[in-house]
Amino acid sequence: MQAIVYKEVNVKNCKAVLNYIFGNGSLAKLTEVLDGKRVGKDSYAIFVVDEFFKGEGKIVSSLPIAPNDVLIYADTKDEPKTEYIDSLVQQVRAEGKSNPVAVIGMGGGSSLDIAKAISILLRNPGKAQDYQGWNLVKNPAIYKIGIPTLSGTGAESSGTAVMTSPEKKLGMNSEFSIYDQLILDPSLTATVPKNQAFYTGMDCYIHCVESLRGSQIDALSRAYAETALQLTRECFMEEFDPAKLMVASCFGGYAIANTNVGIAHPLSYGVSLVLGYHHGIANCIIFNQIEEYYPEAVRDFKTVVAKGGYDIPKNVCTNVTEAQMNQMVQATLKNDKPLTNALGPNWRDVFTPEKVKSLFQKM
Ligand code: NAD
Ligand code: ZN
Repeated sequence: MQAIVYKEVNVKNCKAVLNYIFGNGSLAKLTEVLDGKRVGKDSYAIFVVDEFFKGEGKIVSSLPIAPNDVLIYADTKDEPKTEYIDSLVQQVRAEGKSNPVAVIGMGGGSSLDIAKAISILLRNPGKAQDYQGWNLVKNPAIYKIGIPTLSGTGAESSGTAVMTSPEKKLGMNSEFSIYDQLILDPSLTATVPKNQAFYTGMDCYIHCVESLRGSQIDALSRAYAETALQLTRECFMEEFDPAKLMVASCFGGYAIANTNVGIAHPLSYGVSLVLGYHHGIANCIIFNQIEEYYPEAVRDFKTVVAKGGYDIPKNVCTNVTEAQMNQMVQATLKNDKPLTNALGPNWRDVFTPEKVKSLFQKM
């Protein structure tokens, strides 16, 4: 038998969500979970709910919101901006509600990330922008519960809260960005429009492809990524199953915790920052054109797009100015960690500003 080589690696100390409830109808358990946290008659919780659920007869009316609680409808027309998050925190403070027993985030990746950021900023001084980066958060966040209603980003299981400031799209990467409790109820995704389900579902597909193809892949991340990839493929190439996609999204988030994304994500940050496309659709715009890096995965992606009739915008860079193009290129090249994962430590030699520009010009 060949001797096993134990190659030492640079490991991170990863944290995972501690509690989860999974299954259709599990939203009903929120009352029980929250009641366990409500101490004393003056305690209150903060709900951050995607604006889609606002209104008579919508899900919001079934949530266990007490009179003392704060209800924020997250505006998700744009992806979370640091100024928007700061304004919500200010609003909560002005209402005298800065010490809740829980923050509950309910929605897609945007709402989940807004809730994460609020739970952090209520316990840490300064502005959202101050914490864009790695391990900048000092004080533990408020206990938080995540309830995804759109599957794919992995925001429910990841240790980052992605946000855009005037200069950069970068997350609060911290173990305090991880939810303490998840309620994974696939029936909550029933109302997601077809194209949106695809765009966000492909975020999961791309997370898995990028982590599996990257140099940082390890046995643990591979197990998460391969399972998530398989489930995503089944959903879009065979039969759509909301429960499978919800699990895939979660596992996709874990897959990138100890590894990293690759080439598509840095490019998509440029597209989102300058052209304002949401993450899922931006990833699809990019993935459609980077066959040279991920040949099989892009080929399968194109087959699914053709079969499902999904709308992927093309020629989005036709009218960008020189200054905008430069901003997109610079935003892409800032992503040292993903690009090292994808192309090695000397990525700058091959992934030059000219190369990035030529990729954008195809999109
Ligand atoms: P989103 O949260 O921006 O929502 C997209 C649209 O779907 C919105 O209009 C929303 O109202 C709607 N929607 C959500 N749930 C719905 C439902 N059940 N029925 C009908 N409509 C519904 O989309 P997303 O793709 O989930 O999230 C994108 C955001 O997540 C970006 O800001 C991205 O940067 C971030 N992200 C975060 C992580 C992370 O690890 N934290 C990872 C990837 C992406
Ligand atoms: Zn992503």
